Amino acid sequence: MPKQDLILLALQPSPILDLMQRTLHAAGYDVAVAHDRPGLDKSMQEAIPALMIIGERFASQDGFIISSEMLERFPTLPIIFYAEKDTTGFAKAVLKNGLSGYLYPPLQMSDIVDEVQKSLAHARRLGDWLRREVRRTTSSLAEKAKISEAERVKLEAIISNIQDGVVVMDEKEGILLINPSIREIFNLGDANFTGKSLGDVITNADLRALLSRSSEGALKYHEINFDDGRVFNAQYTPIPRIGAAVTMQDISYLKELDRLKSDFIHTVSHDLRSPLTAVLGYTELVERMGPLNQDQQEFLHRLQGSVQHITNLINDLLDLGRLEAGFDTRREVIHLDGVLKYTLDMFEALVKKKLIELTTEISPNLLPLRANPIRIRQMLDNLVGNAIKYTPNEGRIHVSMTMQDKQIILKVEDTGPGIKPEEQGRVFEKFYRATNAPDGVTGSGLGLAIVKSIVDSHQGRVWVESSFGKGSTFVVILPAQE
Ligand code: ADP
Repeated sequence: MPKQDLILLALQPSPILDLMQRTLHAAGYDVAVAHDRPGLDKSMQEAIPALMIIGERFASQDGFIISSEMLERFPTLPIIFYAEKDTTGFAKAVLKNGLSGYLYPPLQMSDIVDEVQKSLAHARRLGDWLRREVRRTTSSLAEKAKISEAERVKLEAIISNIQDGVVVMDEKEGILLINPSIREIFNLGDANFTGKSLGDVITNADLRALLSRSSEGALKYHEINFDDGRVFNAQYTPIPRIGAAVTMQDISYLKELDRLKSDFIHTVSHDLRSPLTAVLGYTELVERMGPLNQDQQEFLHRLQGSVQHITNLINDLLDLGRLEAGFDTRREVIHLDGVLKYTLDMFEALVKKKLIELTTEISPNLLPLRANPIRIRQMLDNLVGNAIKYTPNEGRIHVSMTMQDKQIILKVEDTGPGIKPEEQGRVFEKFYRATNAPDGVTGSGLGLAIVKSIVDSHQGRVWVESSFGKGSTFVVILPAQE
């Protein structure tokens, strides 16, 4: 037998209450009665009725107020209001309060049943519609959740299978995802690290240094070194609305190749230097052995010039090898402007010959620096030498040294050919010669590589600012000694 609808009558004991009770029973409904407020609350707790009929005055309270409270708690409950007499005011108030029906004396049994059936039918339609809507919304949500779950699984599979190490973090550096490669690189085992801080899980100093630079934003590259010789290139990438990712690639083999290449260059350069010194020595002896005719003398000088050129190149290569190997450890307190004087003296004749206007500007509060004087001289020789070499006759060169935040800023400006924007980053590479060099200007492409190694080994920075066709400014920043 289907369950019968329960009708709750919230009415004071009266003949009307008896009439309603009997009528609704007879019509096949279950009926519950509440005479006062505690009785009403108890009934609502035991079973929520299919419909409620409430009297105009119930337990010395306004029936409308209690109806409003009930609708707050049970918005779909149909409530019929029983007024002691019919007035248009009640009808309006029923509509305004969202009640579903309205009864008033004189009452016939059919009035009661009709009103109850009408209200129940309306409530059922509303209930059915609500259920349909909820089903429709939840099924489309479930569909979406299914798709995003599939996407998540796909993404996780990709990240897990990637050879590079990948770890994704939330905005507070809590781990969201960590792939097997990272676990292997740092020997982390299979523990679950979700939610833990990356800095706590991985204590490698290089990785911590990378994370500490994370506030600088954008993509960062950082080398991560391990005691067993492995070297990784790590990048920090902020991801909007998620946090950030750290990716790591193994570059140990590239580092090893670079070391082998440097070793090879060093050995070859070293072995070439002695025979070249001998060749130069013998060419000088030839001149002393007896008179030479003019042609013989010219050929001999050309030979000496070429041997000198190769010797310079080899010296540069050996210097670079030593600098890159970290052998440059000599440090003295020196004055950069003092070293510059030697450089300018050396180039004085050439500057005069090319009719170049060379000016200097040295800040009076220039602090000294702790550096290797020989290397600093070499750096200045290369920068000033290049400016003179590339600046055409009657051009201008300006060398300035200023202080900013306990750092010495050296600038060498010239009115030479300038360097194309796409080549500016490459001029500090070994053997790189830009396409701007005027005809007849020779070089090895090692000078600026040496400058960069010297500046790096003194914890400084160097770069070029240039406007193609107008000139170049090489800027070096070195930490001052206080
Ligand atoms: P190089 O022996 O060729 O001068 P460097 O390493 O000193 O080698 O310089 C690399 C390249 O950078 C040069 O070949 C040249 O194209 C460019 N360059 C260096 N200095 C200047 C400058 N002052 N003005 C214009 N181009 C320059």
